[in-house]
Amino acid sequence: MGEFELIRRYFAAAACAAASEGVALGIGDDCALLTPAAGQQLAVSTDTLVAGVHFPALCDPFLLGQRALAVSASDLAGMGAAPLAFTLALTLPEADPDWLEAFARGLNRMAEDCKLALVGGDTTRGPLSMTLTVFGQVPAGQALTRAGARVGDLLCVGGPVGEAGGALELVLGRLAAEPEVAEPLLARYWSPQPQLALGQALRGRATAALDVSDGLLADCGHIARASGVALVIEAERLPVSEPLEALLGAERALQAKLGAGDDYVIAFTLPPSELPALQAQWPALAVIGRVEAGSGVRVLDRSGHDITPRQGGYLHFTE
Ligand code: ADP
Ligand code: MG
Repeated sequence: MGEFELIRRYFAAAACAAASEGVALGIGDDCALLTPAAGQQLAVSTDTLVAGVHFPALCDPFLLGQRALAVSASDLAGMGAAPLAFTLALTLPEADPDWLEAFARGLNRMAEDCKLALVGGDTTRGPLSMTLTVFGQVPAGQALTRAGARVGDLLCVGGPVGEAGGALELVLGRLAAEPEVAEPLLARYWSPQPQLALGQALRGRATAALDVSDGLLADCGHIARASGVALVIEAERLPVSEPLEALLGAERALQAKLGAGDDYVIAFTLPPSELPALQAQWPALAVIGRVEAGSGVRVLDRSGHDITPRQGGYLHFTE
């Protein structure tokens, strides 16, 4: 199977590559052409996933396809952007039809769920890795950035954190668990649900937002720095996760909630007056703390003692 046959069979022929709104020209030419609606800005984000670094080389290709796109789509959610399209640069050690069929099926599933059209890419031979670029649109000036949190705002998350981090222990075979514990955690890891609708609902309400990909502490640190404020996380307000606590125990579950990445929920700051309307529509939303004057991120226990862990988040290239 040659490169063009591979592209045609698995990607150009996928349902997610069909004509769609905002896409004037898709796969097949030197460039795709996107037409954002009048008055909208294009939101663009790229993520690379490398086998052995971001996922185990021998994982289920369907789940990998799903997860690869979810990770990128979540960046659109964190900006409050509506999905438009994506490209896929895929590097493969070999053209294995079974692997490609399952990978494309997983990718297509997530693309259809997120309403993202596949408009192009690149296909090369080499160690397994993929780079996905997503394009979204957001009314000019209304994107949710990391800057803008104000003293007195609430700190919120769109859903539970830490579960994907717990799942990673299972994925890497470092822990094992009964299905009732393992399954909900693994679902979090392999099929994260990008909070695209929540992100768009936060436009004009949240003062700052991002998607939690490197761990809550690290990502809250980004908001604190960009906004020039301090964020306080109250540990006991972090959403309860029964499977996570069953897998790790209370103390390590708290560490996972604060430090593990890969959850792809939105963290945001919100003026208190905006909370009731949002909570009614998004029951999984949780207030986990507040914005104060100062800098950095602090974690407090029930009695107000500072329990901030020293090491937070996953950073490439640090020793
Ligand atoms: P070029 O030589 O202009 O870089 P390619 O031969 O790499 O074009 O690709 C041909 C067409 O197929 C282009 O429109 C490109 O965007 C698309 N394409 C290549 N690889 C993929 C892929 N993995 N998924 C989707 N589209 C792809
Ligand atoms: Mg090319």
